[in-house]
Amino acid sequence: MSQDKLLVPPPLKNDCFALPAGTLWTPVSDALETLKGRLHTCVEQEVVPVTTSLGRILAADVSAVRAHPPQPNSAVDGYGLRHADLLTGAQTLPLVEGRSAAGAPFEGIVPPNHAVRILTGATIPDGIDAVILQEDVTTDGHSIAFHGPLKRGANTRQSGEDVHADETILRKGRKLTPADLGLMAATGIGSVEVYKPLRVAVVSTGDELAEAGADARADQIYDANRPMLLAMVAQFGFEPIDMGRAPDDREALRGYLDEAAIRADVILTSGGASSGDEDHMSALLNETQAMSTWRLALKPGRPLALGVWEGKPVFGLPGNPVAALVCTLIFAKPAMSALAGQGWRLPEPLKVPAAFSKNKKAGRREYLRAKLVEGRVVVFKSEGSGRISGLSWAEGLVELPDEALDVQEGSLVDYYPFSAFGL
Ligand code: AMP
Ligand code: MG
Repeated sequence: MSQDKLLVPPPLKNDCFALPAGTLWTPVSDALETLKGRLHTCVEQEVVPVTTSLGRILAADVSAVRAHPPQPNSAVDGYGLRHADLLTGAQTLPLVEGRSAAGAPFEGIVPPNHAVRILTGATIPDGIDAVILQEDVTTDGHSIAFHGPLKRGANTRQSGEDVHADETILRKGRKLTPADLGLMAATGIGSVEVYKPLRVAVVSTGDELAEAGADARADQIYDANRPMLLAMVAQFGFEPIDMGRAPDDREALRGYLDEAAIRADVILTSGGASSGDEDHMSALLNETQAMSTWRLALKPGRPLALGVWEGKPVFGLPGNPVAALVCTLIFAKPAMSALAGQGWRLPEPLKVPAAFSKNKKAGRREYLRAKLVEGRVVVFKSEGSGRISGLSWAEGLVELPDEALDVQEGSLVDYYPFSAFGL
């Protein structure tokens, strides 16, 4: 009997994000909370020289081996004085033989009522308690004349005034910056314990995909996601592993995932994440029942298939390049940071006046391709999620909250420069 039932078309919807009746859409913040609760460091540790540790993630707190500066030294080129606070009014003092220079300290004792030539960075000789700037004295090479007094300690740097010996200078989970390398070197550290880089496999899926630069049939499109995602992974400081393109064939894709799970700590795929006939990623991940296919209340986003394949987390990103990039920044990046040992970190938005207006409806979070122009944030001319040129044009994303929002020109909106995500 049911075969005889007439097919009835669904009510027409002009909005491709309209919620199918009865479908639960997961708010972005719920999805992030779930990920945060499930992911922790999965990489091993190793010891590397400070000189090659840029961008690595500390696996342990780092303490100063010695104080910085290690000894009192001069902050200026000038002359070292004894009891400088007692030298009131016009003074003339003889200079001792020799001088104190950086790396070549004055070895003798400066007698009372004498001064000593001293250069920037030089150890302060015993008995000297202040340095007068060379610009503030006159000298004939044998004596100096100046006006006192000087405060004790003037123009000197005290031992340990910057960092004490044994002080914790950098915390576990920190991604090392050039300045951190300088700080570690200055405080006597030669090598550090860091996490091994997170290995991230990137797979594209789709029978329509052709390799960049290759001949392509008119009905093919070039695989844009793989070069983009591999480059993002590298910029995040992780180790990209190029797994190539998988066809829309469930068994073949299974093979790609098996191989990726052997070679990587986490797997990023793009395409096939919806519930269409050729959406094999979500089908395979659903098989494992480890996680779920989320219908995220996110634009651009649509389904993000999350799973665990042979023990390795898998992010089944949308095929659409704009959605793939946004989902990578919003979901995969914080998740990968947690796996890599950095802990769960979300970027802080800047509050910037809008150079656009937009009436946003309630129900989903939206990200717009954006950039700053003269202190205001402009958005790409089209919200079309297939427009990869807008990604390249953009320097960041505007985030519009789940709730309805009427953005007027000049309203403050949340703007994340790409650099906030580590790009
Ligand atoms: P899918 O999620 O597989 O249905 O793909 C959604 C859209 O993104 C389709 O138009 C695909 O052709 C496109 N797409 C999927 N993968 C890629 C890719 N690697 N590079 C560029 N576009 C893609
Ligand atoms: Mg596809």
